[in-house]
Amino acid sequence: MNLDDLPIRDDLRGKTPYGAPQLDVPVRLNTNENPYPPSPGLVADLARAIGEHAGELNRYPDRDAVELRAGLAAYLGHGLATEQVWAANGSNEVLQQILQAFGGHGRTAMGFEPSYSMHPIITSGTSTEWIDASREEDFSLDPGKAVAAIEEHRPDIVFITSPNNPTGTAQPLDTIAAIAAAAPGIVVVDEAYAEFAREGTPSALTLLPAHPRMIVTRTMSKAFAMAGTRLGYLAAHPAVVQALLLVRLPYHLSTLTQTAARVALRHQEELLGTVDALRRERDDTVAWLRSKGLVVADSDANFVLFGRFPDRRAVWQGVLERGVLIREVGPPEWLRVSIGTGEEMAAFRAALEGVL
Ligand code: PMP
Repeated sequence: MNLDDLPIRDDLRGKTPYGAPQLDVPVRLNTNENPYPPSPGLVADLARAIGEHAGELNRYPDRDAVELRAGLAAYLGHGLATEQVWAANGSNEVLQQILQAFGGHGRTAMGFEPSYSMHPIITSGTSTEWIDASREEDFSLDPGKAVAAIEEHRPDIVFITSPNNPTGTAQPLDTIAAIAAAAPGIVVVDEAYAEFAREGTPSALTLLPAHPRMIVTRTMSKAFAMAGTRLGYLAAHPAVVQALLLVRLPYHLSTLTQTAARVALRHQEELLGTVDALRRERDDTVAWLRSKGLVVADSDANFVLFGRFPDRRAVWQGVLERGVLIREVGPPEWLRVSIGTGEEMAAFRAALEGVL
């Protein structure tokens, strides 16, 4: 039997699973991870904390993850309270819960592409209809056009990714506020990369009090250097959190996950201590790529989109053959490189120069 013989949903027929190649190469710069592993001190603290809770693994975890959510609220600041914060297994699961609660058959979600391709995938996975409202040539959003698209389609959910993946583009708060004012339903501001933003790019968290249907999503996978922990979270009005409780699976966050995430919060100074170095490395990478005559999108994230290559597959392959894995993603003719350590970026530069 093969897949086609199964009574799979019609809308899943012929699809391929999402995911970048997980290849065993010396330098992996393809999934926007933080390249810095946890320190021995953090690893020891983690092992101790897991050890303390291992004796309770016959019991279900705290279903509402209250202590963790309190810690996340304190980390976010902005006067947020525990009941305004929700957490799940990666921000992907947070997004899926949002679609389960506010999307569904007969409903629509809109995003501004090119953007994070899991948004349309999670949208269609919940039988919600996807509407693509596009970006400008330079990947920015024209607030007037965005508002016009919302007024035309009246989507139940609007996604704004800021800083955007794969382009790195951050949205000014004015644009986000204009979209939120026009949107008839939920507005999700996906801030997975917020901590990497350049000076003067504030978080949409400041807009929450004025826009009770706005949700800001975050993750520990990027700046927090905890991608393996799978912990994403959001801040919103307490009523939004109550809506998500209706669709979340009971005990979705394991004791081990909650423990690891709480330890990560205790070590936030160390973990977020890598952000400045990554930002500098990012700005150097942008400058270097431009010095090579390439077109490079401004980036407020821990990755850089650059091009344009009529045969981008050949460039991706050439860089890979030199031991560096980058990502073939985004508009045709562009490639994306995640920011690694200084050494890894030197290897990337050497590999790309070898190809060009
Ligand atoms: N949002 C954006 C914009 C992303 O780029 C990613 C990861 N690539 C995610 C959400 C999901 O991250 P995670 O599930 O690891 O929190």
